[in-house]
Amino acid sequence: MKNDFMKELLLRHKLAMAPESSAPPDYHHQMVVYLGCADRRLKPEEHLKFQPGEAFYLRNPGALVHPQDENIEVMVEALLESPPHDKLKHLIISVHTDCLILKACRDGCGDKISRRRYVKKHLNNVHHEVMKEAKTKGWGNDPAKVLKELEKKSLLQSLANLETLPVVQKAIVEGNLKIHGWLLDTHTRNIYAMNPDTQEFELWVII
Ligand SMILES: [Zn+2]
Repeated sequence: MKNDFMKELLLRHKLAMAPESSAPPDYHHQMVVYLGCADRRLKPEEHLKFQPGEAFYLRNPGALVHPQDENIEVMVEALLESPPHDKLKHLIISVHTDCLILKACRDGCGDKISRRRYVKKHLNNVHHEVMKEAKTKGWGNDPAKVLKELEKKSLLQSLANLETLPVVQKAIVEGNLKIHGWLLDTHTRNIYAMNPDTQEFELWVII
């Protein structure tokens, strides 16, 4: 019989269980919806030291946002309705370096990544835009540069799609929600924030 990883997970779970007498984690700190790539090497709860009750996580291959993404609407509503009501809430979309989805997109097999029409459309649009710019500027044969541009353009498309959601638009206008676009370095764990004015990534610092 093949070695079953689930047995090892059960042992880890037993070691991680809280004592029966301990209270459940406090829910009064939910401040963030974190939408990131489903890449198994990434652990946003560890990279950002999120405490229980602070973040909703949504993860999918590539950290892509659909223009009418119901999952995100539900998460944003839940975030806005959760206490404390007087605090600014945040929504983070985080792409990352060395993303297998974006590398596949760069290497021309976007159609094989997913049968889902939206994923193909998102990636094909982004790839088309990047290669158009590459042709003009002459870096189409530089795979590292193409990947960097795919990271940026994919995030920009997701951010634009996010702002088409009425619940998000309303929360931004009323000053209840702030949107952040990030690039996480898969190796160093450094975070680079998208500067909305220059549309370039800059090392994340509090301004
Ligand atoms: Zn990825």
